[in-house]
Amino acid sequence: MWVALLSTLALAAADVCEQCRVDPRRTVLCSTHLDEELTTLREERSVLARSKESSERLAALQRIAALTSTHSNAPSPNVARLLADGLHDESLMVRRRALALLMDGQHRDETIKGVIDGWRAAQRSWREFDARMSLVASELSKGSSTMSRQDIEEWPAYIEALLAALGDVHDERAYKELLGVFKWPADRTPGRFYVAAARAALTVESRKGVESVLEFTLTLEAEIAAGRVPARFGPSTSLLGAMMRPLDNAVAHDVEDVFAALVAFARHKKTAPPPDPVMGAASAWRAWFKAAKDQFTERMTLLE
Ligand SMILES: [Zn+2]
Repeated sequence: MWVALLSTLALAAADVCEQCRVDPRRTVLCSTHLDEELTTLREERSVLARSKESSERLAALQRIAALTSTHSNAPSPNVARLLADGLHDESLMVRRRALALLMDGQHRDETIKGVIDGWRAAQRSWREFDARMSLVASELSKGSSTMSRQDIEEWPAYIEALLAALGDVHDERAYKELLGVFKWPADRTPGRFYVAAARAALTVESRKGVESVLEFTLTLEAEIAAGRVPARFGPSTSLLGAMMRPLDNAVAHDVEDVFAALVAFARHKKTAPPPDPVMGAASAWRAWFKAAKDQFTERMTLLE
């Protein structure tokens, strides 16, 4: 009901143009809106290419996104494409805002493509960032650092926003990327990323999605219990060290958080009760999935 209410409000705020339309294969804008788009995109594209100020690039992206508000019934693919380019901006703050603008009623296909590309690029950059973090952690005791607090705060927020977007677009291609998180190694992936990915994956109903989340989490629980997922950053008294700790490997608490999301999903689907307590119950969890799986649709379906 909330979703319905919110989308009604969003529609009320944005205008519909009776001349702009969506043909089966393309978006056709009326001459007024086409002119407006051409002019605005030309101007803002040059701001995006030249400006060294992230606030200016962000303002340009906002003006680009606003083009859709006068013809929300026919969002233009050109607008979505340019917003998606923002997911490759050098500033993480710009990337995160570009993602939010893209996810707000823009052209569906280009949004999905943009989110998937942005996610792949983010995974590559994350690996570099992660390697730098290891280096910084090993040098913390010497008091030197090449990493800003802003980076440490903004990276996880951006990755988590992308994970949520991969679920929110409700598309098989994006969903496949999302489930790919559960193939990442248990070691060197922050526990909070698994939790965010599991929550995003469970916003839709998918038998394969539930199984991937469950199987990975049981493996992770066993690996942690066997001591094979050690802390990477260790105890540190420095501020930077303390800030890096939430980006450390998964711990039992993260496993519990994913199980809690599965319990909420089970309740929503009114399945047989999941194991209680949730920890140390691998065979009971597998028995639960076996009993409940026929209640889950094979292909992803939006949960009402
Ligand atoms: Zn129009």
